[in-house]
Amino acid sequence: MSKSDKEARRQKVIDVLNKARSMELHAITQYMNQHYGLDDMDYGELAKQVKLIALDEMRHAEMFAERIKELGGEPTADLCCPVERKQAVERIFPFDAHQEDDTIEQYNQFLIVCRENGDSGSQKIFETIIEEEQMHYNYFDSISNHIEKLGDVFLSKIAGTPASTGLAHQGYAVTEGGE
Ligand code: FE
Ligand code: FE
Repeated sequence: MSKSDKEARRQKVIDVLNKARSMELHAITQYMNQHYGLDDMDYGELAKQVKLIALDEMRHAEMFAERIKELGGEPTADLCCPVERKQAVERIFPFDAHQEDDTIEQYNQFLIVCRENGDSGSQKIFETIIEEEQMHYNYFDSISNHIEKLGDVFLSKIAGTPASTGLAHQGYAVTEGGE
């Protein structure tokens, strides 16, 4: 394989890593915005979990950036899409479940690009991150269902709960994984 062929293959991998990074940067900003909103609405427990998930997304954005640097690329600072502001609690969880589901779908496509271009290291990063996005999806989907089925009965139990994340600054996936 010629040098320029190798470079073209590497560039394809850098491109999908950067697309994924811009999705993570969007998720960080979107979830932080929701975390402050939920805190203002006094849904502490929900605010706390969304904050932990935003921390996971920060770790993902870093993982992609480090890999991009290793491959000689430049990590993007752009968000993939606009952040939706002032969402109601009924909007947040179906919105986020949908976003995580889309992310899993896209990352599975990106993973194939990595494999087809001979980069098993980047493929593995996608595999690891997809597992965590699945945990995020499961959480958002379950809260979304509770709010849809139980409405105020569920929300009144959440009102006034603490938003503190205590010592759990490592994010949602690590905390849930019990590591
Ligand atoms: Fe992520
Ligand atoms: Fe996620």
